[in-house]
Amino acid sequence: MKIGVLAVQGDFEAHQAVLRQLGVNAIEIRTPEELEGCAGLVLPGGESTTQLQFLQEEGLQAAIEKFARDGGAIFGTCAGAILLAVEVKNPKQDSLKLLDITVLRNGYGRQVASGVVSGTSKIKKEPLEMVFIRGPIIERVGPDVAILAEYAGKPALVQKGNVMAATFHPELTDDTAVHQHFLDLASPASR
Ligand code: GLN
Repeated sequence: MKIGVLAVQGDFEAHQAVLRQLGVNAIEIRTPEELEGCAGLVLPGGESTTQLQFLQEEGLQAAIEKFARDGGAIFGTCAGAILLAVEVKNPKQDSLKLLDITVLRNGYGRQVASGVVSGTSKIKKEPLEMVFIRGPIIERVGPDVAILAEYAGKPALVQKGNVMAATFHPELTDDTAVHQHFLDLASPASR
């Protein structure tokens, strides 16, 4: 299975490493053409403002919107979750609007601005380790959005259909459960 990782800026290489560990062909995406033939796309953490600007300049925004409409699976982590949100606050920012959530950038304030914590999830029985790096808070989820993991009473991993978003960084822990869940979404059998 071929999975694309948006490789503009941020920690895309860490995502590629996890995906390769799971036996996937993880390629770097910088142009709309490179998305062709991918079953899924990862939007990594980094700086959402910089990433959005790149997507708009390179025609990737339209290409990703089409990719999602055609059933491709998309997983946004941290800045990537901000890109997917229907509404972005603090400050207000444009986005791809592919997932019905409202996010507050840098929402966890200083205490949990960066750190490793443990939360509950629906994807495994054991506690899920979560690495937060100036992550957004998911302030609101739409009616059909499933909350797969929570931290401090806030949704931290959410999904609707083929689109999934995490406010933490699963690519920075040894636990591959979150990426495995994404690959299940992306695998043709699940569509
Ligand atoms: N604070 C960043 C933003 O608002 C996201 C941080 C991250 O991806 N680790 O874009």
